[in-house]
Amino acid sequence: MVHCGAARGHRGSGPGPRAPGAPPSDQQHEGSIMTGVDRSIPEFDIEVPVVVVGAGAAGLAATLAACDSGAGTLLLERDVVPYGSTCMSQGNVCAAGTRLQRENGIEDDAEALYRDIMARSKGTADTGVSRTVADNCGPAIDWLVDRFRIPFRLDLSWGGFFGHTVNRLHGVPSKTGKELHDTMMRAAEAAGADIVTGAHVDTVYADAEGRVAGVRVTRADGAVETIGCKALILATCGFGANAGMVRRFIPSFGEAPYYKYFGHEGNEGEGIEWGMALGAAVGSMDAFQGYGALVESAGVICNYDPIMNGGIMVNLEGRRYSNEVKDISAQSLNTLQQPEGIGWVIFDDARRATCEDLPEFRELKALNVVRTAGDAGALAELIKVPAEALEATIAETQRMAKGEVPCPFGRDFTRNPPLSGRLHAIRTTGALFHTQGGLKIDGTARVVREDGSPLPNLFASGGTAESISGSGCDGYLPAAGLCTAITLGMLAGRAAAELVGDAAMADA
Ligand SMILES: Cc1cc2nc3c(=O)[nH]c(=O)nc-3n(C[C@H](O)[C@H](O)[C@H](O)COP(=O)(O)OP(=O)(O)OC[C@H]3O[C@@H](n4cnc5c(N)ncnc54)[C@H](O)[C@@H]3O)c2cc1C
Repeated sequence: MVHCGAARGHRGSGPGPRAPGAPPSDQQHEGSIMTGVDRSIPEFDIEVPVVVVGAGAAGLAATLAACDSGAGTLLLERDVVPYGSTCMSQGNVCAAGTRLQRENGIEDDAEALYRDIMARSKGTADTGVSRTVADNCGPAIDWLVDRFRIPFRLDLSWGGFFGHTVNRLHGVPSKTGKELHDTMMRAAEAAGADIVTGAHVDTVYADAEGRVAGVRVTRADGAVETIGCKALILATCGFGANAGMVRRFIPSFGEAPYYKYFGHEGNEGEGIEWGMALGAAVGSMDAFQGYGALVESAGVICNYDPIMNGGIMVNLEGRRYSNEVKDISAQSLNTLQQPEGIGWVIFDDARRATCEDLPEFRELKALNVVRTAGDAGALAELIKVPAEALEATIAETQRMAKGEVPCPFGRDFTRNPPLSGRLHAIRTTGALFHTQGGLKIDGTARVVREDGSPLPNLFASGGTAESISGSGCDGYLPAAGLCTAITLGMLAGRAAAELVGDAAMADA
């Protein structure tokens, strides 16, 4: 059940919820910090076996798995209406060896995905987490389809691009993260989870050994509650919205000219900071998923489909500046390094057909940001780039498509027919979508210390855990973000349920 009121649970012997706006009692917080990790453990207002923090794909998968395994589970979400990175995404999830792939005649398995992860990250991705994700992502998709009727389909348009050697992107019919999120949210409610929105977790209570005892929540109306738990799953995503952390861990991006972040404002890295304060190791902290074609004025992405199918990107001087299809993530930095950090996406009617029905393109049309002209000269005038330069760029691209000249950036244009006829242009910039570094975990998504030993009862998933992208911005495999969110969420939920089940048996 989703509540926007007080959290439910097994009431302990504590003082009960305080009045809205009232500060925490002096006794509970004497000599301790007000946020972060607090080593002085209060008597909790309520107790639940498993607490999950963050209602994105990771937290919802964890909640579904914990409930499915029989554990009482409370999901706490800071926003009144959850709209994290999952809702902002296209909802594509890469996964290998799924039944949907087999039904579509696609041969794929965990080993092939693992190879692609390692190739994409140039061998820098953490081998342990990469194995865990590669082995479990296929079963995770099958589980969501079979057990919870999440309506995944196989997207057959992506094979062979940006590091996936086969078609393995799975998405919901509308191709929106919002639909994926909403169906998972409904499934979690139906599975019996307690979901409390407008509940910002600001403190984790833990003993000196790092055993989590509970959390403190500040509600949207200022009310404060303390909730005890036997296991805590952190699913608060990454730290893209925390400019200080970005500058510290990803200086290449944080200090880039025209630096932009386009993810959820809730990605402040709290989960990662709590884990670090509890002694957890972190990994791949300089890794991130960027995007080279964000329509900033509209707050909507420009779909990559027209680019992948032969479209190009030019700067304000009317010149191409990169191999646009080499790396969808690293293209963010390529674009940001152009004058004013701007790249115009240019395509013709044939490429437009590849995105005409996609939700983002429909939105861009409605917002009137798609510029159209009969030829390169007229388009240049419309978008205010030098006509001579744009005409020369289009003509050269046409010759490259015919195989007459090589692309100076190494792109193979001969896979698609040359640009022709009417041309369209969309003004974009590069942006950081979400960070890929996070807490190190073991094969059950339990958070570990530098020496590999697990913290007693702390789990991490999604953007809060170390991902499979290795180092930098070019190791990101498309749709790996939701893949790790769902896969690690499922593993964390199951392991947390097992842990609290064992603890209950021991107590009995
Ligand atoms: C525009 C865009 C497009 C993308 N497209 C794709 C795609 O197609 N495929 C793909 O795989 N990846 C994509 N990604 C990345 C993907 O969205 C993320 O990897 C994924 O959503 C992470 O899931 P999550 O559950 O970890 O985080 P989120 O979905 O962000 O959920 C985290 C939740 O935690 C909550 N929270 C944070 N702190 C607290 C706190 N202290 N207390 C309580 N709640 C808290 C937040 O409010 C949020 O709801 C995209 C990202 C962006 C920005």
